[in-house]
Amino acid sequence: MIKYIHGLINYALRKELIKKEDYNYCYNQLIYFFKLKHKDEFDEVVINFPEEAIFPLLDDLYERKHIKDNSIQYKDFLLSKVMNIFADKPSIVINKFEELSKQKGIKTATDWFYQYMKDLDYIKTTRISKNVFYTVDTKYGEVEITINVSKPELDPKTIQKRAKAEAVSYPKCVLCPENEGFAGNISRDSRDTIRLIPLKLSDGDWYFQYSPYSYYNEHAIVLTKEHTPMSVTKQTFINLLDLVSMFDGYFFGSNTDLPIVGGSILSHNHYQGGLYTFPIEKAKVIKSFNYKNVIVEVLKWPLSTIRLKGDKKDIIELGDKILNKWLNYSNPSINIYNFTDKRHNTVTPIARKKATYELDIVLRNNLTTEAYPLGIYHPHEDVWPIKKENIGLIEVSGLAILPKRLIEQLQECAQALEENTPPPKGFEDFIKKISKPLTKEPLEMVYEQAGLTFVKGLEDCGVLSINNLIMFVEEILNE
Ligand SMILES: [Zn+2]
Repeated sequence: MIKYIHGLINYALRKELIKKEDYNYCYNQLIYFFKLKHKDEFDEVVINFPEEAIFPLLDDLYERKHIKDNSIQYKDFLLSKVMNIFADKPSIVINKFEELSKQKGIKTATDWFYQYMKDLDYIKTTRISKNVFYTVDTKYGEVEITINVSKPELDPKTIQKRAKAEAVSYPKCVLCPENEGFAGNISRDSRDTIRLIPLKLSDGDWYFQYSPYSYYNEHAIVLTKEHTPMSVTKQTFINLLDLVSMFDGYFFGSNTDLPIVGGSILSHNHYQGGLYTFPIEKAKVIKSFNYKNVIVEVLKWPLSTIRLKGDKKDIIELGDKILNKWLNYSNPSINIYNFTDKRHNTVTPIARKKATYELDIVLRNNLTTEAYPLGIYHPHEDVWPIKKENIGLIEVSGLAILPKRLIEQLQECAQALEENTPPPKGFEDFIKKISKPLTKEPLEMVYEQAGLTFVKGLEDCGVLSINNLIMFVEEILNE
């Protein structure tokens, strides 16, 4: 087993997590952790990822009955404790980030920080690389699909339940900055190796960190210091546009502040960002208008989306008008009620900085009815075999994150197509939509249909027809 210890330390040296002066220190920490006796053995197993050494060491601990659990969850829990031996304390990480940023620009700092989080296995590159990724051509352009095998899916009701349960525990939620170094427990993943960079925005103290799931390149999260609920206001637009000027090439967006149309965490105000170009950026423009130093574009996109391009101050001013107009917008003839016993209207904003500033404002409504218990503007029942969860910022942007179960189910659908046998339960209508005779391999056809079904789910989230959206914009500009 000692050869795995040397393999792990040499991995840490190669990745420059530690220096050679740290060898004995790490060795002693590790043999204690894994309850091993020192051996004059300098054999090394060369590893590319920490779990290649840590998992055999944990299996050995389990076999020797030092631990009672060898599930993947428990192994991950212990793995982050092992990797924390190689991790710098938060103050040192912050210092390095700030020094790099000052001397070589923020791009160098984020490049380093992202790589550091991957090398510490906080971002599990090996698992993420197993996610299925493909693109589908649609009438809105190319849409991207990920079948996620690294995180379990949550339905909106569980999300609501969790939001309530989180209010009583420590840290109050998974996004609180108090998670830094947190060991984890049954309901919480460990955060031993997460590191946060403090940020100042015009409304106070925030932190920058990376998402452990990394759904796209440099998937970042910006969160408030205080555990305060999601809120989408004029200040959100200001913060997002300030963030895109601070972080070169990054986009930043916010999920909404309401259930069903929001993300999985409503209890802690946060944004998502990253170095990634989403399909929505390439959406065609159906109609454009002018407002002061801003070009206003109505996009050809399955959700009702208005893009503002130009001067930052004017974007914020117009964005605020659009937000207020939408918060007060009701139109019973098309089933939009902004308020019943509670508020239903909100927006998903996404900011970028290209030649000029850009802010996409996506109109959302979370009303439920007897016919649509999960939401009128939520994927409808025909889409559920593929996607039942909330449509959040990432999916609004044209990247589907689909559940793991689909890998097997889509395989079974392909088999059903090929052999003319019944498809898996719930996929009867799905499979009927695939036109025959098949023009491609059955699995390819099935994957494509899954992508088109996802886009149908996005269309279900669209609150206004294109004509109504254009009228909505015109009314604001004529005020
Ligand atoms: Zn929190």
